[in-house]
Amino acid sequence: DRLRESKVYMRALFDYIPLEDKATPCQEAGLPFKRGDILQVVTQDDPTWWQAKRVGDSNLRAGLIPSKHFQERSLALCSPHIFCAPPSPPPLPPSGLRRSFRLSRKDRQGSSGEGSEAGDSDYLTYEEVSRYQQRGHERPRLVVLIGSLGARINELKQKVIAENPHRYAVAVPHTTRPKKPQEKEGVEYHFVAKQQFDADVLNNKFIEHGEYKENQYGTSIEAIRSVQAKNKMCLVDVQPEVGYRLRTAEFKPYIIFVKPRVPESRRRRSAATSPAGGDHARTTDEDLQEMRQSAIQIDHQYGHLVDRVLIKEDSASACSELRGILERLERETFWVPLGWVR
Ligand code: 5GP
Repeated sequence: DRLRESKVYMRALFDYIPLEDKATPCQEAGLPFKRGDILQVVTQDDPTWWQAKRVGDSNLRAGLIPSKHFQERSLALCSPHIFCAPPSPPPLPPSGLRRSFRLSRKDRQGSSGEGSEAGDSDYLTYEEVSRYQQRGHERPRLVVLIGSLGARINELKQKVIAENPHRYAVAVPHTTRPKKPQEKEGVEYHFVAKQQFDADVLNNKFIEHGEYKENQYGTSIEAIRSVQAKNKMCLVDVQPEVGYRLRTAEFKPYIIFVKPRVPESRRRRSAATSPAGGDHARTTDEDLQEMRQSAIQIDHQYGHLVDRVLIKEDSASACSELRGILERLERETFWVPLGWVR
């Protein structure tokens, strides 16, 4: 058995609590896990229940987990309860005949709704992964920073790069705004005409683009490649959905989600206790609530893609933490989707 040790590893994309699972054949035999855990799948012989161990567990007992197929099916079956409001009882009808008519029509609408919902969604179950360590001859992985409200990831990125410009760099963006005298083509920006910019947008050359004061700005795929060609680690700060699109074997992005530590209430960090205008010095309770909400929303929507969460206490400590993460990224082994290493 030892010789045939399973090589199948899955990243869990959902939390699993066997004690709350009514479908399991044996709750005590279940293996609890959390989203992001790496599971070594020992057997996939049974179509509904796999046996797996959690990587990093000192207790190496294998337990039951729902198979990918079974979990997808369970999600498909319960999605109407999660996403649709339960049908409200029809108003009391004047006659029994009308009542049954209304009910049957409502039932039909209900079931057609369920069908389309299940068919369109991509259920988050497991992602097959493999160990990966960057070798000397390979280009450095792309580092993608995503941040919730108040995280100031651009500032963080700039600071870490300024400390180590020979190792880290930004992808030089394109812009249609005129070059300032002190600026150099290809350093701050690639300066291009509007017509060229629009053509590049149409040809999908940008990973993202936007308008600011009637000028266009955008980051191109080539700009990332050219940083990597110099054997530097490229850092980009983007909207979460952009980071998602960069998840390819070529870039092997390592996605870091930066969220500010949000104090309970602004009174705890009044202007008096942070005179230098600390990150939350002038924020109101509503601002803090918005910051919390933004972090929750990103975590909910994109958390399964995040390799690392960085809780930003203040700018200096976040910088040193990010520096540490980047250094480990070049030395250590990480789990990446199987398709990236095959
Ligand atoms: P400036 O023209 O002062 O150099 O930049 C002004 C603004 O342009 C920045 O604050 C930023 O909002 C936006 N900008 C700069 N680079 C990019 C980019 O690569 N993509 C997008 N979407 N906006 C950018």
